[in-house]
Amino acid sequence: MRGLFIGRFQPYHLGHHEVVKKILEEVDELIIGIGSAQESHTVENPFTAGERIMMISKAIDELGTRKKVYIVPLEDIYRNSLWVAHICSMTPRFDVVYTNNPLVYRLFREANFNVVKTGMINRHEYQGTEIRKKMLEGDNWEKFVPKAVVEVIRQIGGIERIREIAGKDF
Ligand code: ATP
Ligand code: MG
Repeated sequence: MRGLFIGRFQPYHLGHHEVVKKILEEVDELIIGIGSAQESHTVENPFTAGERIMMISKAIDELGTRKKVYIVPLEDIYRNSLWVAHICSMTPRFDVVYTNNPLVYRLFREANFNVVKTGMINRHEYQGTEIRKKMLEGDNWEKFVPKAVVEVIRQIGGIERIREIAGKDF
């Protein structure tokens, strides 16, 4: 059985990581879809698809799973009624979709997919928006993401990037 989990992963945090661990207990193979793949260098979407691939791939390596994980970048098509077909055209076949996002849930249900809600894990702290805010404001964000993600963000100068692009004109 092959599962699909989609997110923007800006950045990939411990909430996502816990969900992935749970899914890997249930499926033989997992597809992780990176949504809004075309976006980067904005406060909402600071990291490129390639950088997000590095975060996820290295964090999953640390789990030591023997299961196959495919990481697939997915660009936005700005047309919700056709979105599921777009996803299917870009990914290996899948039997079950895992999501906690109401729109993703609705769209896959309407297309008759088996969709599972995993439930939120410590959503108060494990939330992309809050973590990006901490990065901007110089608060401790490192404890909310896997160690491998801290390392990738350090290597690419991610914190400097987010602060610089949030700044005013010179
Ligand atoms: P943002 O605040 O930028 O939207 P996010 O934390 O919601 O970030 P997404 O990439 O939008 O992260 O989420 C991808 C998927 O992971 C969605 O289905 C979302 O509901 C789920 N998710 C996000 N945070 C958690 C969490 N703490 N526990 C469980 N699932 C989560
Ligand atoms: Mg979200």
